[in-house]
Amino acid sequence: MRVPDIIIAIDGYSSTGKSTFAKLIAGEFGFLYLDSGALYRAVTLFALDEGMIEGTDSIDLERLIPALDGLQIDFRDGKTCIGDRVVEDEIRTLRVSSSVSPIAAVPEVRAFVDRLLRAFGQKGRIVMDGRDIGTTVFPDAQVKIFMVADDNVRAQRRYDEMVSKGETPDFQEVLANLKERDRIDSTRETSPLRQAPDAFVMDNSDMNLHEETVWMRGLLQGRFGILDPREA
Ligand code: C5P
Repeated sequence: MRVPDIIIAIDGYSSTGKSTFAKLIAGEFGFLYLDSGALYRAVTLFALDEGMIEGTDSIDLERLIPALDGLQIDFRDGKTCIGDRVVEDEIRTLRVSSSVSPIAAVPEVRAFVDRLLRAFGQKGRIVMDGRDIGTTVFPDAQVKIFMVADDNVRAQRRYDEMVSKGETPDFQEVLANLKERDRIDSTRETSPLRQAPDAFVMDNSDMNLHEETVWMRGLLQGRFGILDPREA
């Protein structure tokens, strides 16, 4: 199925399967996938390693903000890197998850990440997932999707993902972290998590990946008047 050169913005709550869905779409329609949360996670890992975060939310902004100028975050072979260091696994640990939302609420951090995301977006044919892609980063994205799912389903998915990586998480702690991140993300002043008015909502609590692909095909066919997918 031929899809025009567009930006697809996927936003939604934590662990609703945004990145899995975004990667699926990117593979299916030949788009480049970009994970905006990975950039916030990389800034958080940097701040933790540099001792700029005390406890749960005391951030040394006087050191962090100037340090952003020299911070090099990139994706290489689909993996997140800080300078030459591959940090893809480290940024997914609970240590980083527990501090990322307060870091992502800092306006200067958001401006730093937005600059990187818009530069990546120049490449066109992009699927980007996050919290504010359809509202702030690419408000003109041609297709916007807002993903939601039941709390326990989300926590179970995150828990299973961590177990598959050899971690030994506590389910209640994982659930509490999701809810806390949603709370901070939805109530912060700068670019809070919101459903864009023109976004299509996907509740994937009971959907498998095949059903998600069928859903997306239907949406794109309707949106771009692609009548017969078999013509591709
Ligand atoms: O998507 P992921 O769960 O990896 O994102 C980690 C955190 O980064 C989110 O909880 C949120 O605080 C922040 N984030 C954001 N805006 C985005 C993407 C992620 O604030 N566009």
